[in-house]
Amino acid sequence: MSANALNAPGLRAWIDIPFQHDFPIQNLPFGVFETAERGPRLAVAIGDYVLDLYVLSQFGFFDDLAELGAAQPRVFRRRSLNAFLRLGRPAWRAVRQRVSELLRHDNPDLRDHPDAARDALLRQRDVALLRPVKPANYTDFYSSREHATNVGAMFRDPANALLPNWLHLPVAYHGRASSIVASGTPIRRPRGQQLAPGAAAPTFGPSQQLDFELEMAFVVGTGTALGKPVPIEEAEEHIFGLCLFNDWSARDLQSWEYVPLGPFLGKNFGSSVAPWVVTLDALEPFRTAGPAQEPTPLPYLQTVGDHHFAIQLEAALTPADGPETVLARPNFQGLYWSMAQQLAHHASNGCNLEAGDIYASGTISGPAPDERGSLLELSWRGTEPVPLADGTTRTFLLDGDTVTLRAYAEKDGVRIGFGEVSGTIFSE
Ligand code: CA
Repeated sequence: MSANALNAPGLRAWIDIPFQHDFPIQNLPFGVFETAERGPRLAVAIGDYVLDLYVLSQFGFFDDLAELGAAQPRVFRRRSLNAFLRLGRPAWRAVRQRVSELLRHDNPDLRDHPDAARDALLRQRDVALLRPVKPANYTDFYSSREHATNVGAMFRDPANALLPNWLHLPVAYHGRASSIVASGTPIRRPRGQQLAPGAAAPTFGPSQQLDFELEMAFVVGTGTALGKPVPIEEAEEHIFGLCLFNDWSARDLQSWEYVPLGPFLGKNFGSSVAPWVVTLDALEPFRTAGPAQEPTPLPYLQTVGDHHFAIQLEAALTPADGPETVLARPNFQGLYWSMAQQLAHHASNGCNLEAGDIYASGTISGPAPDERGSLLELSWRGTEPVPLADGTTRTFLLDGDTVTLRAYAEKDGVRIGFGEVSGTIFSE
C-alpha cells in the first residue's frame, strides 16, 4: 500500500472517532507521552487515544519491518522522537503504514488480541504529552509577507515596510533550542531592558508588551553533512513533519535590542511546541500552490510543483477567569516562502541540518485584520485594544492569560488536525 493509500477518505478505524476529530486513521501523528508506570514512550495519536509504539513493538507487530533493524524496541522507549527520526523515511513510513493496517476496522490482529490492544491504547487525558523532539537546533523564519509588512510598518517605515532582501531570500535567525517547552508549560513573564517612549535611558523590569506568535514549525528528520547543500528538489525529503509552535515574544525588549543583530532576549525566554508532529505524508492531500513570487527567486530557490499546504490556523486567548476568544484565523497556505525554500536556503551555504531540528515559519498573518497572528499586529502595537468575549480588552498579554493555538487541514470529510499548543503567563 502506498503512502497515499493511507490517506483515503474511506478508511475507517475500529476505534470510535467522532466526525471532524483531529486524529482519524488518515492522520496518525507521532509524539511522546509519559506515565508514572511506563516512563516515556513514543506514540501515535488515534482519536482520543495514544497508541503506545513500544507495546506494539514488544508484542511483535513490527518484527517484519526490516527498516527498523536492531533499533526496536528501545527506539520506542525514549523521551524524544530523535532516535526514531534518525532511522530515516523508510522506517517512518513503514511504522505509519503498519499502525494504519492495525487500526483498520477490518483488521482483527490488534483489535482482537487478548492483551495487546488493552495495553497499547491509553486515553490521551490519562497521560502526560511531552515535547516531541529534543530540539537539536531552532531556527525561526520570517516568511509571512503580511506579518513582515505589518512589523516593518510599525517598527520602521510604512512606505518601505519590507527590507530590500525580503523578496529574495527567506529571512531567518538562529533561535534558542534550550527554552523550547512542551505545551501546557507555564510561561514566566521575562524581565529585561526596555526603553519607554520618549525616555532618555532604558530601564530593567518585567516586560509590559508580552505577546504570542502563531507559527507552524517543521521537524527535520534526516540530517545533512557539514558542507553539503541540499538541492531544493530534495528539500522535503529531510522533513519529518509539522507541528504548531508559539514563539512567545517580549515586544518592548525586542524593539530596544534588535538593532543591528536581530532577536535575542525578547525571544529566547520560551517557545511552546505542540505534542503531535503531523507527517508530510498525511498532509499530501493538502498540497497546493503558494503566492506568486515576484521577483523570481534565484535558481537555488526555484521549485516545480506545489510545495505549500492548505492548513487552517487559529489563535485563541483565554483570561484567567473568562471564556475563550478566538483572535485570528490565518491560513498556512498564504506563507510567501515554502518549507522547501526555507530548508534549501538554510543549507545553501553548507550549514548542516540535524535530526530533531525545529524550523519555525515565523508569525503567520493573512491580509485581513482577523488573520493577524500576534497581538502586536492585532492591537497595532498597542494603539487598537483587542476586545475579548468577557468584555475586557488586550493590547498585550496579562498574567493569567492562556494562549492556545490550533490547526487543521480538511477535505472530503477527513480532518487532519494538529491538536493544540497552549501556555499560561505568570509572574514571580
Ligand atoms: Ca517568531
